[in-house]
Amino acid sequence: MSTLYLHIPFCKRICSYCNFYRVGAVQLLHRAIEGMHLELEKRASYLKDRNITSIYFGGGTPSLLAPAQIERIINHARELFLTDQLTEITIEANPDDITPEYAKALEETSVNRVSLGIQSFDDKVLRFMNRRHTGNEAERAVELLRSVGIDNISIDLIFGTTGFDNDHLGESLRRAIALDVEHISAYHLTVEDDTRLGIMTRRGEYHPIDDEGSEREFLRVHQALTKAGYDHYEVSNFAKRERYAQHNSAYWRGVEYLGIGAGAHSFSGNNRTWCISTAKEYAEEIFRYESEELTTEDRLNEYVMVSLRTKQGIDLRYIAEEFGEIELRRIEHTAARWIERGWLINKGLRMMIPAEHFLISDAIIESLFK
Ligand code: SF4
Repeated sequence: MSTLYLHIPFCKRICSYCNFYRVGAVQLLHRAIEGMHLELEKRASYLKDRNITSIYFGGGTPSLLAPAQIERIINHARELFLTDQLTEITIEANPDDITPEYAKALEETSVNRVSLGIQSFDDKVLRFMNRRHTGNEAERAVELLRSVGIDNISIDLIFGTTGFDNDHLGESLRRAIALDVEHISAYHLTVEDDTRLGIMTRRGEYHPIDDEGSEREFLRVHQALTKAGYDHYEVSNFAKRERYAQHNSAYWRGVEYLGIGAGAHSFSGNNRTWCISTAKEYAEEIFRYESEELTTEDRLNEYVMVSLRTKQGIDLRYIAEEFGEIELRRIEHTAARWIERGWLINKGLRMMIPAEHFLISDAIIESLFK
């Protein structure tokens, strides 16, 4: 079992906090899509198990693609991989790309899940983030998708912004909950050096939130969403009606994946490869890669890191089978001090961090690294 990721690294406008690999040169998009078809052909053999269970169009802004272009890529993937167990096809979309025509055409493709980059419902916060949409447009996008029959919708929210005098987080949570979407990803705003927000911070025009504020906001998001019936199943992810993100859950279980597109990463269990072509090179079908082989230590640390960020936690039997009894005992020994404080729970065969302590998961995870 494996998954396929398609990276569309183009954005019409660059958000103030964003340091993902993305470019504004939207005119390259159409040629880049042809490059993706070619790269798909060339790289299909990277996956040992050609059985694809999910496809994810991420970015960047995949909703810059016409639905017909999306379907063509999906059909190409169906030719190259086994897809009888393909159950989830997600596209990330910007709310202002969701017009009635776009929503209808999207529903006619094989896409069955849409992840909307809403971030906030407050217009002042959205302007601060340099987003293209307003809070009302975000609501309208969800309604439009619903009206054409798309019944698996995820939205992204960002918390941890400072400098606003209204309760915009409370308002965003209230409006998100009212939309009754199946899935919410809530991320803490991080200030990265090479972003507009980073520059504003260095100039003293923006003051990042302190640790206490972060914790308060994280708990507020956790409490509001769990009270509204969402399962907080990963540090940043909440699902309702068991609509867990299958594609992301596969990452967290260490399932292999093939990433296509400029900047996309691939993983085959003991190898990680990423495409370092610029978008311009990629559009000219020049594919350059870097890769690394993972040691047993890398694999163990990675397993501990991704699984402890989920509600399922780590599987102690898997640790013993895959990495040996000595590693298991080392982890159990270090874990004891966290268990004593109630920040880690040992349920016999699994060990997990209670969701309300996810925010400090990094400290716990690092202590368990080999
Ligand atoms: S839309 Fe996404 S990828 Fe593009 S600039 Fe904004 S945050 Fe970055």
